[in-house]
Order: sequence, then C-alpha cells, then structure tokens
Amino acid sequence: NTVNANGVNLSIPPLKVAIIGGGLVGSLAALNFARNGHNVHLYEYREDIRTSELVQGRSINLALSERGRKALAEVGLEDEVLSTAIPMRGRMLHDVKGQTSVVLYDPCTNQCLYSVGRKHLNEVLLNAGEKFPNIQYHFRHKLKSANLQEGSMRFQCDYEEQQLEEATADLIVGCDGAFSAVRQQMSKTLGFNFSQEYIEHGYLELCIPAKNDEFQMPPNYLHIWPRNEFMMIALPNQDKSFTVTLSMPFKVFEGIRTPKELLEFFHRYYSDAVPLIGEELLIKDFFKSKPQFLLSIKCNPFHFADKAILLGDAAHAMVPYYGQGMNAGMEDCTLFFSILREPHMTIGKALETFTERRVSDAHAICDLAMYNYVEMRDLTKRFSFKCRKMLDTT
Ligand code: FAD
Repeated sequence: NTVNANGVNLSIPPLKVAIIGGGLVGSLAALNFARNGHNVHLYEYREDIRTSELVQGRSINLALSERGRKALAEVGLEDEVLSTAIPMRGRMLHDVKGQTSVVLYDPCTNQCLYSVGRKHLNEVLLNAGEKFPNIQYHFRHKLKSANLQEGSMRFQCDYEEQQLEEATADLIVGCDGAFSAVRQQMSKTLGFNFSQEYIEHGYLELCIPAKNDEFQMPPNYLHIWPRNEFMMIALPNQDKSFTVTLSMPFKVFEGIRTPKELLEFFHRYYSDAVPLIGEELLIKDFFKSKPQFLLSIKCNPFHFADKAILLGDAAHAMVPYYGQGMNAGMEDCTLFFSILREPHMTIGKALETFTERRVSDAHAICDLAMYNYVEMRDLTKRFSFKCRKMLDTT
C-alpha cells in the first residue's frame, strides 16, 4: 500500500497545484489538495470576500444537502457550517389564495436540507485554508490565458494598469465557474465535447425582511409559490429574513414596467407575499436589478492529459431547480480525492479515472435539474395535487 496513515498517497510526489477560482468548490479543493501534501496556489478574480462589503454574483443562500455535507465533513468543517445553517424539514407550498400546506422531505428519519449563506460558507472554507502553510491565496487575479501542456498561466492582477503576471504549475484545476477560462483552453484540444443551453426563464432576488427581529414565516421550510409558468421560492437567513427568488420567463419580466403593474401582478399571483415583503421594498428590489440568465453546461472529458482538471460549475453548470449545483461540485472533490488516495495511483491516471467515473453522473444531474425546471414550470397543478395527496397519506 502506498497510502500513509494520514491518507496521503506516497506514489504521487508533492505537486505545485494552481486552483483557478476561489468560490465554494475552489476553496474546498484547495483544502483537499493541501491535506494531501501538495503546494497550492489559489487564484481568484474577485477581491477577498472576507474583507469586502460587496457580495457579487448569484443567490445569497443555498440549500446544502447530503453530498455537500459529506464533502465538508471530509475536511472537518461540517459541524462548523451546520452550527449556523437553518434546517429546512420540508416544502411549504403557498397557493394563490395564500393557503399553505407542508410536505416533509423525510417524515421517517427527519433528514432535511440546510439553508446556508453563500458568503459565510465561502468564508469558512477560506479561513480553514489560512491554517495550511502550503496554501497561498492570490486575490484579484483573473486568469487570462493558459498553456495547459506547459502548465503556464497569465493573470490580469492589476485592473488599472492591465498588468499581466505569469505563473506555472504542475497541475491546473479549473474551479472558475460556468464561464470557466480553463475550460475555454481545454476546448481548443482535440476530442473535447461541449454544449450549453440557456433557458427562457430568468430569476431575480427579493427579500422578506425580519419583523420585530422575528421571521415572518415559519423558518424551517423551503417556501414555494408554484404558479405554472412562474415560480417563487424563499429560503431562511440567519438574520431572520428570507431570500426570495422569483423565476419566470424574460418576456413576463419585460411586461412589468411600472410599480403599478408590479403590484397588480404580485397581488394577483403572490398576494400573501406582498405584506411580508412590503410594497415599497418590493418595488425597490424588483426595479433595482435586471433578471439573471440561467444556463446548463455539459462537457467531456473533465481533464487534459496529466495537466488540468475541471471541478464544479466549470465542469457541469446546471439550472438551479434541483438545488444540487454546489452540492454536486463538492461531491466532485469527494470523488476526485478518493481516487487520488487509491494505491499506486499517478496523477495522470487519477485525472483520467475522474473523467471516467464522473461524466455520466454529472450529465445526469444536469438533466435532472432541467427536468425539474420543466416539472415546476409546467406541471405545478399536478405537482400540488401530488403533494396534497402525499400530505393526506402521512
Ligand atoms: P462559482 O461559485 O461560480 O465560483 C467560481 C469562482 O471562480 C468565482 O469566485 C469567480 O470569481 C472565479 N473566477 C471566474 N473566472 C475566473 C478567472 N478567469 N480567473 C480567476 N477566477 C475566476 N446549488 C446548490 O447546491 N444548492 C442551491 O440551493 C443552489 N441554489 C442556486 C440558486 C441560484 C439562483 C443559482 C444561480 C445557483 C444555485 N446553485 C445552488 C448552484 C451553485 O450556485 C453553483 O453550483 C456553485 O456556486 C458552483 O460553485 P463553483 O465554485 O464551481 O463556481
């Protein structure tokens, strides 16, 4: 056996690993590589989110499930993350008249999803990385180009002067999200397959604030307002607010041009949510930003020779209707590092094995997310009916 007591595979000498992207998957991958004795350089386009006020990007909170929890447990962070997460034991469905019904996820063993703050989770992962002398963070470094064969990279690190910094690595790990620059380099190699699909629906985030320092709805549920073509969901936050995600076709968003039209629309479809959000805040948040696009990305392979690998959204971005994007990205780490620990493994064989074992599962979860999008969009009547029937029987 080539694996020592700490689980480090001695058949793979310490590598210089460049991780591109310090989001949820990149910061988790950094911890795993460091624990396996490799020298990690993590390059992140944004500034350090731990010291910046500005929260950029997608959904403020996320549903953490078993896949993600397992990956966090492997780096000793599950308890810390769960200590501030909010359990969601089921769905609370809001019908058009404002009546609610509950569907528990698991009435038998009480398993549940957890609502976690994206920024908080990212901070926990980055803070854990600080404790490793073999991890170095490089914020405000945007990968501009890479020669994967040679392991060389160029970063834009000073926005004012357009200054480029060069670096090299034995292994380049693309954790740079749906629009991955590493994947773009891989796409220039022979035999690389890639597809992407934008959906007709966009999403916009609203907020149900806390009232008198209390939640305005029961906190331990994922709240859903299914409305055929539209859908709204809300997840609880630590500060007793809810982050609300309104999802509907772009053409419907475009049809709402004035505060009056917005209030009419909400009173018609989401009447119980209006007093909770508050008309003033609803108008402010709705017109503050544009609805965001959603897309699904598949590719194959996930690696290039023994030089580069894609993890997380860089390998498989999916529409968010299954709540599994981050969880699946974290599970990439579980799988990849378990392969790395197999006896007599080499880095080249590990990358190849990861593609072999992961591609079909990743494509399947992208498909499931897309099916659920169709299910929630078009079949809500059947969906609510099914839920009510389930309620009747539990
Ligand atoms: P990202 O989070 O995209 O991180 C990529 C990082 O790379 C970023 O920090 C970016 O700044 C950096 N970067 C990009 N380009 C470069 C470059 N050239 N050089 C250097 N750095 C770069 N998933 C769930 O599991 N549960 C949910 O409930 C859930 N809800 C969602 C709701 C919405 C509305 C959306 C849109 C997504 C949701 N997801 C959810 C999916 C989840 O957000 C993603 O799957 C997850 O963020 C992927 O993590 P990542 O680290 O792979 O990529």
